[in-house]
Amino acid sequence: MAVPKRRTSKTAKRKRRTHFKISVPGMVECSSCGEMKLSHRVCPSCGAYNGKEVVSK
Ligand SMILES: [Zn+2]
Repeated sequence: MAVPKRRTSKTAKRKRRTHFKISVPGMVECSSCGEMKLSHRVCPSCGAYNGKEVVSK
């Protein structure tokens, strides 16, 4: 198995990690109750999707 010849320096490690970003899933405000929900998903708090209640509580 290949083994690294040199220990990765703090700088190299930090430079590489600048490309790792925390990605928050697409959260949008629910149009019917105002809670934050995932876009293109039924709202978990009021069960509405696209302005209509599609899932009963
Ligand atoms: Zn809602």
